[in-house]
Amino acid sequence: MLTYYIQTYGCQMNYSDTERMETYLSALGFKKNSNMKKADLIVFNTCSIRQRAEDRVLGQMVRMGDLKKNNKNLIVVVTGCMVRTPSSKYSEKRDNLFNTIKELDVAIKNDELPLLAKLIREVKPNLEIKEIPEETLESYFQIDPTHSSHKSNSQAFIAISNGCDKFCTYCIVPFSRGREKSRPMEQILREAENAVKNGAKEIILIGQTVNSYGLSTYDKAEKTFDYLKKEPFVYLLEELDKLSEIGLERVRFTSSHPKDMSDDLIDAMSRLKTQMPYLHLPVQAGENEVLKRMNRPYTVEQYKEIIRKLREKIPGISITTDIIMGFCGETDEEFETTCKFFEEMEFEHAFLSQYSNRKGTYASKKMKDNVPQKVKHARWHKLNNTLKKTSNKALERFVGKTLKVLVEGQEKDEWFGRSEHYKEVRFKSKKDLLGQIVKVKIDSHDDFRLYGKIAK
Ligand code: SF4
Repeated sequence: MLTYYIQTYGCQMNYSDTERMETYLSALGFKKNSNMKKADLIVFNTCSIRQRAEDRVLGQMVRMGDLKKNNKNLIVVVTGCMVRTPSSKYSEKRDNLFNTIKELDVAIKNDELPLLAKLIREVKPNLEIKEIPEETLESYFQIDPTHSSHKSNSQAFIAISNGCDKFCTYCIVPFSRGREKSRPMEQILREAENAVKNGAKEIILIGQTVNSYGLSTYDKAEKTFDYLKKEPFVYLLEELDKLSEIGLERVRFTSSHPKDMSDDLIDAMSRLKTQMPYLHLPVQAGENEVLKRMNRPYTVEQYKEIIRKLREKIPGISITTDIIMGFCGETDEEFETTCKFFEEMEFEHAFLSQYSNRKGTYASKKMKDNVPQKVKHARWHKLNNTLKKTSNKALERFVGKTLKVLVEGQEKDEWFGRSEHYKEVRFKSKKDLLGQIVKVKIDSHDDFRLYGKIAK
């Protein structure tokens, strides 16, 4: 039997795409193989968010040359953000990757997955792969993912859109994944219902900017959601909430964009029982001129107002963010303004990244990456010190409390999972608790985690 191996890089969207690829490859007659060296087809699902991520994939290609020497029939496929043109090495119009990767056989964009069988046949016409009925493969979103990235069925990551219309100047996503397109509502609801029937207690909606669901230029031109009388994302959350009747307990979504954080959405988050008191809302900078240079279409004041409303409507909500430091032209004064903002907002966690130039972005073509590396480094440390204080304070409030934890896995003799506020909680138990929601009494914490014991 033919077998495949998939190596996935990057964000949760890529892992979700890999799960779709698994369904597709098994329909073609391939079986999953955990040993890359023994597979007949090796797929690299790539990420381009940073140059380093691309370099890691290119580094792997040396190995592919060696494997091909031992297996003349091996097919090497690259998918994900590095691909622009779906093609095989024999296609007339080939992706640029074929100029740099001589081991490559097929390049396919994630959302053009239904073309993969045709491209494999171009490379290996005699390979015995099954036919897939075309009507089921008009769009890659119609392919149900395996939900295999997680150890239990209790969580399901469901992609609701692909691509992005926002064009932040530092970001490659609108070029690598293309413009934003939302997935039809009924497909999402069908996938969610199936996941819940299969044991999912938590659904995590994913997309580049999930809260602009149904509002992209493409969606508006197609009038896809005109039949709804309300914001499509709010409607989607309300429909998902009804699945609580068959066992769904939690719905999360990531990532959100401040521009699309409407009052209706905040209201829905406060009233729906499956909504959790947690939101990741990337701000990227706490200074208006830096935000303008990043092409983030909101001001610091508008962002603060969103957070004020969230904290008012959902008392105790845990809010996390992303910050980039050392972006093109960021002065000491601008960074100090960001520091003050960061302290004031008391984020419970944050992904802090030092700006690095990404080829192909607007910033790489038109702006100067002129903040010295050691200054970026020092700025990172400064914000990280603040973060440790705010994170500790946020964790401290849970000591002595009993929290509901969805158990996601085990490391050595310790179980770990997430509380409703999305805090990582660790505890010991001899029982197999994977995928269950258990009560844990918290007795301590470190900088980023809570520790406790199963509550009696
Ligand atoms: S919102 Fe900005 S950072 Fe996020 S994916 Fe879109 S362009 Fe990139």
